[in-house]
Amino acid sequence: MAKAGAELGDEDEGMQKVITEGGLRQEWKRQRAEERKVKGTGMGRVVKWNRKARVNYVHCRTGKGNLQAWRHVLDIDQPDECRKCGRYAETGRHVALVCIHGEEIGRKWGTWEDMDDPERWRKRVKDPDGDYELDLIEEFFSNLELN
Ligand SMILES: [Zn+2]
Repeated sequence: MAKAGAELGDEDEGMQKVITEGGLRQEWKRQRAEERKVKGTGMGRVVKWNRKARVNYVHCRTGKGNLQAWRHVLDIDQPDECRKCGRYAETGRHVALVCIHGEEIGRKWGTWEDMDDPERWRKRVKDPDGDYELDLIEEFFSNLELN
């Protein structure tokens, strides 16, 4: 009886360990998959963009950088209002997805997921010097005046 109990105890301990590590591993896997989703759809394309578009995109997507809402986080005395519309806090989401100014410079998407589809925003441009393709998301972010 004592032996069976001990064996059961060992087994339990072993099982618990496996479940805990396995569960953690699965959770890490899930988190990494999420990160890759953003990098794969967003960042894979973004690295080929011009510098200004890249910087603006990263600031908007992370909510950190040249954004009034971020300055306000760092210094409560800094106003957080959008410098374009003045109606809402200038968060990355507001600038990239919501602000009326974005519509004026060609935004036609409403979510990050919309934006992450590269095929959807690729535009073929006819040019006497040779046709080329434009990434409309890159265009948008390179036309944003964040500083
Ligand atoms: Zn605005």
